[in-house]
Amino acid sequence: MPRPIQAFVHTDALRHNLARMRAAAPDTRVWAVVKANAYGHGVERVFEGLRGADGFALLDLEEAQRIRSLGWRGPVLLLEGVFEARDLELCSRLDLWHTVHCDEQIDMLSRHKTQVPHRIFLKMNSGMNRLGFTPTRFRSAWTRLNQLPQVDEISLVTHFSDADGAKGIAEQIALFNKTTADLPGERSTCNSAGLLRHASDETVAADWVRPGIALYGSAPDFPERNIAQWDLQPSMSLRSRIIATQELNVGDTVGYGSSFTANVSMRIGIVACGYADGYPRHCATGTSVLVDGVRTRTLGRVSMDMIAVDLTPCTAAGHEVGFGSEVTLWGKASNGTVLPIDEVAQAAGTVGYELMCAVSNRVGFTQD
Ligand SMILES: *Cc1c(COP(=O)(O)O)cnc(C)c1O
Repeated sequence: MPRPIQAFVHTDALRHNLARMRAAAPDTRVWAVVKANAYGHGVERVFEGLRGADGFALLDLEEAQRIRSLGWRGPVLLLEGVFEARDLELCSRLDLWHTVHCDEQIDMLSRHKTQVPHRIFLKMNSGMNRLGFTPTRFRSAWTRLNQLPQVDEISLVTHFSDADGAKGIAEQIALFNKTTADLPGERSTCNSAGLLRHASDETVAADWVRPGIALYGSAPDFPERNIAQWDLQPSMSLRSRIIATQELNVGDTVGYGSSFTANVSMRIGIVACGYADGYPRHCATGTSVLVDGVRTRTLGRVSMDMIAVDLTPCTAAGHEVGFGSEVTLWGKASNGTVLPIDEVAQAAGTVGYELMCAVSNRVGFTQD
């Protein structure tokens, strides 16, 4: 029998979260962002839940191929565009729309032989300073692209650095709107945080939104808001089982480095889950975990293959827990109780994104 750890991908939750994104920006088309293998869920496993989107946005050409193999004939957008000239052949063959963010990509496109002109998303660097043409160079890039026979429609896109925080998007959107005011073409600005927090702002007129993390049931602005407040559901649940129990006396310690010491006698469970499964080693004693759907806490250091959990709250709640009991590391327990991935991420000093993307190969996935 394999180790009892498993990741579940919830199709209903994906569908629900997608509907939430639509409701947050009615009359706007939605790119479901499925980069990084659908934030660690698996492109194939999220396809059913997200096929109601208007298009799929991603980075890897290999993932674009997989989306096409699933039978998706709608728009597919490469968020970083092409990396080398021969990628353009695949764009022609698979009808991929691609971002153009630098002169080198325009050079490659100008030399590309294609029967069918390409649909382009021209990217402005409005302050993030990763990809895109600065406002002073944006229009000349647009003009150059617009003259190429290889180019069909040009859409205009930018990405916010602070849609989730105090600084907000005001400066970036003002710059974007000013620079693009008299240019034709569809516009796309908002990621999940932009969509949930700013899409109702009338300056943020957009034809396309690009939610990623919210589709997967993580709040882009946690802890200011949590998924319950945004009405989002976890799309991934990481579950395992208790494979041993121990009775601790006062003064007994747990795990490597003896970092936890019992100050009362207590019963603990040992869970088949460790950092080699993608559970963050930075989670200290006290990180929330569900045993039999009851919220309790981890004890001591996370080891490669195991963690220890306090069984006291479960027993107190009348649950007979022990060998074989279900443990939910994040997501939804079988009884429906939810432990948001954001809480576990916060305990590890990171964000839900990183945890979803880091579930390791040895964890089996099930779609439900
Ligand atoms: C990843 C990404 C998104 C999605 O961001 P979330 O914060 O996950 O919603 C949107 N646009 C671009 C360009 C991205 O790279």
